[in-house]
Amino acid sequence: MRNTQVFLRDINIMNKIVDSAELSKKDIVLEIGSGDGRLTKVIAEKVKKVYAIEIDLNLLDSSKMALKDMKNVEFINADALEINFPDDVNKIVSNLPYSISSPVTTKIIYFLNKRAGSFAVLMYQKEFGERMLAIPGIRDYSMLSVFCQYTCEVKKITNVSKGCFRPTPSVDSVVIKLLPKHIDIDEGFLDFCRAIFQHKKKNLYSAILDSRGKMALHTKSELKEKLETLDDSFIKEKVFLFEIEELLNIYKEMIKLGICQK
Ligand code: SAM
Repeated sequence: MRNTQVFLRDINIMNKIVDSAELSKKDIVLEIGSGDGRLTKVIAEKVKKVYAIEIDLNLLDSSKMALKDMKNVEFINADALEINFPDDVNKIVSNLPYSISSPVTTKIIYFLNKRAGSFAVLMYQKEFGERMLAIPGIRDYSMLSVFCQYTCEVKKITNVSKGCFRPTPSVDSVVIKLLPKHIDIDEGFLDFCRAIFQHKKKNLYSAILDSRGKMALHTKSELKEKLETLDDSFIKEKVFLFEIEELLNIYKEMIKLGICQK
């Protein structure tokens, strides 16, 4: 595999990452995309065990050599999207491969959500991280923001400039901490949000009508009739202005009206 990845070279940023992960000798950490193993080493010095997943066999072999004295690192040559994460992991700390940010974040969140006390500290491309953190009313507020903030407390740890990597990439990065809320994730709610966020600049009324193919009730006239029974103050509000709590209440209302099904 041709390696087009960039590697973190700034020890201060590595230390910020491990400090914010509050690592101790009790921790079993998963690192996704361990690359040349420099971050792996900094993590491994502080924890009981590190699982280091790396897709590129050349990188895996050279990092194995470099860390051969660290007996608490288990290297796994695999695509992180294709394997089950080891069951005993309680923290995920990674400078992620940005090309898989979206699917790997989904996988991480579902994994952590089921494990009490677990959390992740992850490096992302800045623009992606900003969408995870975005609040209602700003352009970046999207389905990614809703999914991450519904399931986790999302905190920015630090911005990371492109100069901290070699070779120097064209984009800046950001370190994000994801603290799962350990909730019973309601897939129906997420499907509803996914549908209306495709029309996030429209008001709720139009967004629901325009995504009626994805609603339990999809006849336009019936939908209009039901939606018109609702208070204008929220049905005429633009989708991207709603807080997650408001979206949850709207979804409950949609179930009552038969527009969505539980
Ligand atoms: N951890 C190193 C660092 O901090 O410098 C490398 C980070 S680099 C941004 C991402 C790494 O993920 C690369 O080494 C790349 O080969 C690896 N990678 C890319 N896609 C992957 C995948 N699907 N599963 C596992 N590793 C992957």
